[in-house]
Amino acid sequence: MRPRHLLLLCALLSLISLPAAEDAFDLVIANGRVIDPESGLDAVRHVGIRAGRIAALSERALAGPEVVDASGLVVAPGFINLHWHGTDPHSNYYEAMDGVTSSFELEIGVADVDKWYDARAGRMPINYGVAIGHAPVRMVVMHDPGAFLPAGDAARRPATDTELAQIRRGVEHGLARGAVGVGFGLAYTPAASRWEILEIFRVAARYGAAGFVHIRGASSAGSADREEGLLEVIAHSAVSGAPVHVAHINSSAQEAVTRMLAIIEEARARGIDVTTEAYPYTAGMTRIESFLFDSWTDKPEQDYGKLQWVATGERLTRESFLKYRKQGGYVLIHANTEARVRTAIAHPLTMIASDGFDVEPPSHPRSAATYSRVLAHYVREDGALSLMQALRKMSLMPAQRLEARVPEMRDKGRVRAGAHADLAIFDPATVRDVATYERPAQFSQGMRYVLVNGAFVVRDGEVIEGATPGRPVRAPIAP
Ligand SMILES: [Zn+2]
Repeated sequence: MRPRHLLLLCALLSLISLPAAEDAFDLVIANGRVIDPESGLDAVRHVGIRAGRIAALSERALAGPEVVDASGLVVAPGFINLHWHGTDPHSNYYEAMDGVTSSFELEIGVADVDKWYDARAGRMPINYGVAIGHAPVRMVVMHDPGAFLPAGDAARRPATDTELAQIRRGVEHGLARGAVGVGFGLAYTPAASRWEILEIFRVAARYGAAGFVHIRGASSAGSADREEGLLEVIAHSAVSGAPVHVAHINSSAQEAVTRMLAIIEEARARGIDVTTEAYPYTAGMTRIESFLFDSWTDKPEQDYGKLQWVATGERLTRESFLKYRKQGGYVLIHANTEARVRTAIAHPLTMIASDGFDVEPPSHPRSAATYSRVLAHYVREDGALSLMQALRKMSLMPAQRLEARVPEMRDKGRVRAGAHADLAIFDPATVRDVATYERPAQFSQGMRYVLVNGAFVVRDGEVIEGATPGRPVRAPIAP
C-alpha cells in the first residue's frame, strides 16, 4: 500500500469513532461463575455492565474503568422477593445483604397504590412494587381500626351490596394505577363471602393481574381444614381466569404440605395458573390481635407455649396471651416441623419468598436471612436442592410469575445481555444466615457484591447505607 493510501485509510478509521475499550462498559465483573437459570449457563464469564443493564457476557476478558474480580464467586440474578411487608427502607438493606434486589408487598397489599410508590421514590436501595389489597381496601370501606391487618368489621362482618361495590371500585382503581397484582388476606377477612372474593378475582382478571393469597382458615395458628382454603382459590382462579399465587405454603399447609403441593400440581396440569412459595423456617409470625387467634382464648395451657412474644422473646402462657392480645403486636408461632418445611422448600413448584417485616422493632429472622438460609442449609449442608434449582426459585420463577402483568420483569431474574444489572455475587462456600428468633436484626454473611440497576448496594461484603439505586416496578398505568 502506498503511503498516500495508508494516510487516507488512517483518516477514514479515525472518523469511525470507536469508543476506547475503557468506555465500552461502566463496570466489569470479571472471572465469576455465572449461573443463569433461564439458559442453564453455569460457567466462568466476564460481565460487562452499561447504563444499568448487562451489556455483554463474554468468555474473553472485558475492559472497563472499573473491574471487580469475582474469582471463586457465583454471579447470580438478584433475588426477587414476592412477599414483603416492610415499611422502613432501612430494612431493605438487610434484604440486600441477603441477595435480594427486588422486593414486593403482594400478599396483603395496600389501599392506595400511588401513595405507596410516592413515599418510596428516590429512597430505596432495591427495586420495589406493590399490590392493591382486598383486605386494606375493605378496611377503608368498613372503617376498620386495625393496623396493617383487619381487627374489626373488615374481619368479622359481611359486606353490604353498597360496600362490595366500593371495595370493587377501590381494587379496580389500584389496578388502573399500575398495581402489580391483587392481594388477598383471606385468613384475616373470614366474613368476606365467596361471591365477594370471586368479584374481586374477576376485576383482577380484567387487568391481567394475579391474586396473591393468604388462603382462608390456614395459618401457623391452626385450621380446621387446610385443603379447603386452597381449593377455594383454585376455584376462583378457574372461574374468573385470574392466575393465583398461594403465599407461604409451608405455614399455610403445615401437616398437609404434601397433599396441598399435589393439589397445586394437579390443578396446573389441568391448565389453571396456580403457583406458590415458601420460607425456610418452622415458626410463623403474625399479629396477636388478628382473627387467627379468635379461637385461642380457651386452649390447653401447653399450646400457649408455642407462642413467643417478639418484643421480649418470652414464651406465652394463657395469662400473658390474654394480656398481649388486648395490647396487640407481633407473635411468633412455633408450629411447623423441619421435615415439612424441607418438603415445601425442595418441591420444584415452590418459589422462595421471605414474608419479611421491618427488622426494627424486632420481627422474624426470615426478614433478614431467608435466601442465605436456603443457600446455606438446603443447598450446601442438606443437599435438598442444587444451586441452580435454588437460584431458579429465587430469581427466574418469581420474575416469570409477574411478567404477564409487568412486562419489564422479562428483563429481571436472568443473567443475559440486555437484562437489568440486578446481581447477587456471593461465595457459595460461606454464604449463611446469621439472624435468629432471639436476635433477628442481623445481616446475613457471604454476599460480596450486590448490584441494583448496575449500582452497588453491597460491596466487599459490606452494605452501603445510603445507596438508593432501587426503582419502582409497576404495571402499565391505564390512560
Ligand atoms: Zn400470610
